[in-house]
Amino acid sequence: MKFLVDTMLIKLGRYLRFLGYDTVIVTPETDWKSSAHANRIFVTTSRKHFEQWPFGEKILLHSQGVENQLRELREFIPLSIGENFLSRCSRCNAVLEPLSREAVLPQVPPLVAKNFEHFYRCSQCGKIYWEGGHVKRLKQKLQRLGLDEQNRKGDYDD
Ligand SMILES: [Zn+2]
Repeated sequence: MKFLVDTMLIKLGRYLRFLGYDTVIVTPETDWKSSAHANRIFVTTSRKHFEQWPFGEKILLHSQGVENQLRELREFIPLSIGENFLSRCSRCNAVLEPLSREAVLPQVPPLVAKNFEHFYRCSQCGKIYWEGGHVKRLKQKLQRLGLDEQNRKGDYDD
């Protein structure tokens, strides 16, 4: 399952990336009606864009705010916190690679390197992620929104 998220839904797009979904966010430079995106589910709040989408699946959201939009999206798609959580860069959508603590040492504050076990680096932009407090809070927030945590295989077929 891959997404193309319209430009007014940047935050939602970042959340989908956190959840591990391959998500392209429309920017002014994006040719959003390009056939390169034909296999993606188009998500928008624009009735006009919704009607203009030339390919298959599309979802028109009506909610304001990323939390409400996630809730609304869940009515169409069974989003969950699965094994692909934190597998993509929220900034550029590229896949994250695990990084050893030794390799990460020169690139993060010393306390972070000391206190955390698991580090990841974006294969494209180089941004470093670790499973610190912000990830925990993000997970809790998603759980409050009704997303279950589960680790079964096969929930993210694309
Ligand atoms: Zn990145």
